[in-house]
Amino acid sequence: MCGVFGIKPHPEAANLAYLGLYALQHRGQESAGIACLGPDRIRVVRRMGLVADAFSEESLQQISGSAAIGHVRYSTSGGSMLENAQPILITCHHGQITLAHNGNLVNAQRIRQELESKGSIFASNSDSEVILHLIARSQKTKIEDAIVEALQQVEGAFSCVFLTKDKLIGVRDPHGFRPLLMGSLGEAKLFASESCAFDLIDAQIQREVDPGEMVIVNKLGMSRSVHPFPKKVARQCIFEHIYFGRPDGTMFGESTHEFRERLGEKLALESAVHADLVIPVPDSGVCAALGYARASGIPFAFGLIRNHYVGRTFIEPKQSIRHFGVKIKLNPVRELIYGKRVVLIDDSLVRGTTSRKIVKMVRAAGAAEVHLRISAPPTTHPCYYGIDTPTRRELIASSHSVEEIRKYIEADSLAYITQEGMMSCLKKSKPEDYCHACFSGDYAIPFPGSTEV
Ligand code: AMP
Repeated sequence: MCGVFGIKPHPEAANLAYLGLYALQHRGQESAGIACLGPDRIRVVRRMGLVADAFSEESLQQISGSAAIGHVRYSTSGGSMLENAQPILITCHHGQITLAHNGNLVNAQRIRQELESKGSIFASNSDSEVILHLIARSQKTKIEDAIVEALQQVEGAFSCVFLTKDKLIGVRDPHGFRPLLMGSLGEAKLFASESCAFDLIDAQIQREVDPGEMVIVNKLGMSRSVHPFPKKVARQCIFEHIYFGRPDGTMFGESTHEFRERLGEKLALESAVHADLVIPVPDSGVCAALGYARASGIPFAFGLIRNHYVGRTFIEPKQSIRHFGVKIKLNPVRELIYGKRVVLIDDSLVRGTTSRKIVKMVRAAGAAEVHLRISAPPTTHPCYYGIDTPTRRELIASSHSVEEIRKYIEADSLAYITQEGMMSCLKKSKPEDYCHACFSGDYAIPFPGSTEV
């Protein structure tokens, strides 16, 4: 769960990277960083927190230059601390190299142990640092060859951007788990996790970096593409479409908003219920709720209002009578809900704790019945490729039936979209090109240390 950005050459590279990360903020809120190539060297600014708080005009001025990469992080491997923030910058016999990585490597721990036993020193506990160690050890003369040699040794998900003195490089793992787009702005070439980063700065979307492709951008902004990895079946993450990606973009060739609407329509056909109102759990359930309302003919209403300003800095008074829980984020519109049979739509049910609180809240607002519909199948397996899911034991659907979950969340009825129903909502991309391990347990690459697979 991270967002990456890259641009070269552009006189305002650092400022544009800042804006790009601003648009990608939903992909990670723990830390943000920008590395920029100045006249003499690459400099990096990394801070904990949101993009808007992490950089000042002054700090961007200090690193300004002609090429930049950026990263927003939500940790899936390694703790939430500044040492693990990216871009990571190293200096080795290839010169300065900086990396922003989205995805999760499944064999990083083993490689790290091997390297440490031979004397390597690590500055963080993030899996991404392993890649830079392997590059530093490569005897290849060209940096792109050293990067390929390093990436051939790691397994798992990587959509990466690298910046060196001469080159900007974007690369996606052979399964293509995480997205990576290419774009242009005048002479400059760009990379970003999602198209919203390009929209904000009026850059043109060119295309997706293909699974297993590496694109090398030189000083003049000319790009060259290579396919250095053995071809593998594509395994793009279906959960990016369901929850993670912003709905105002196209990912893996598919409009995220349209896909989510179709999920809602399908869900209405698969699990109809007599009700008076369709209410989304904002923001994640909005698109699917629109589809559900359209297909069912039940009116849509914003019956839950979200406070968009709840940040990580929220402090509960120690003496508070009760825990604020989900109330700090969501509040029901009682006038709409009172006496109504409500269908609540959310995109996913993971632990079940949030849904339980929301069902309770809607009932307390006077709903006559509360039916929950989930526009994803039951989440039964953890993700090892970059989405922050809890361990299998914490996933309620891994050990409970739908009826047991319904009882736990105290809904009048509960239904999930079927796996087949979900896949049938893909219209422009092929179902076989997707990873759905979190719903099916069908892992393209097993996680070596896990007994859960
Ligand atoms: P819960 O069932 O209590 O674990 O929470 C489900 C809610 O969390 C849903 O509203 C989802 O939109 C949201 N959600 C699903 N996956 C994630 C994730 N990886 N990180 C944060 N929130 C998530």
